[in-house]
Amino acid sequence: MEEAVWVACSLFARNRVTGSSANLSFLHNGSMYITASGSCFGTLTEESFAAMDLGGNLLSDKQPSKEWPLHLGIYQKKPGTKAVLHTHGIHAVLWSFVPVTDEADCIPACTPYLKMKLGRVCMVPYEQPGSQALFDAFGSRVMSGDGYLLKRHGAVVPGKDIMDAFYCMEELEENARIAWELWRAGLWGIHQKH
Ligand SMILES: [Zn+2]
Repeated sequence: MEEAVWVACSLFARNRVTGSSANLSFLHNGSMYITASGSCFGTLTEESFAAMDLGGNLLSDKQPSKEWPLHLGIYQKKPGTKAVLHTHGIHAVLWSFVPVTDEADCIPACTPYLKMKLGRVCMVPYEQPGSQALFDAFGSRVMSGDGYLLKRHGAVVPGKDIMDAFYCMEELEENARIAWELWRAGLWGIHQKH
């Protein structure tokens, strides 16, 4: 819990998340703790979490982020996952507009660390945030990647704990930033040849 609050405040302080757009969750004693609806990473405290069981039933008075099915979908299908982080990082979103040839591996490993820490990032087609259509599109791709880029929306990253998810998200955003800059500079073709 303490680390989850630190991760949230660190992301907010460095402008990696803005307003109340991001959400994170972790498993503890078989329950999912997820940032409550409308909570801001900049002012997150240990009281800012809603609790749910892994069947999606609410266990707390606080309401969860409306994007909770994205989190639950990963826990249900990937048993090693203990935390999930979802942000609307600007470079991840910018990169999601660039046409890619391989949607199952949509962010190029501009540094070696993306693949070392996270793995392959799978593109999820655009659907309205919070909609069942998005949750269905996401659910059908959970097993197709190690991390996920939601088109025109943001990134979702699982981890074995919240710090792991945080480090992986940092790599994802950094690689998206480098890829975006290369693409803007007209150097994208060079990179694609590896
Ligand atoms: Zn979102």
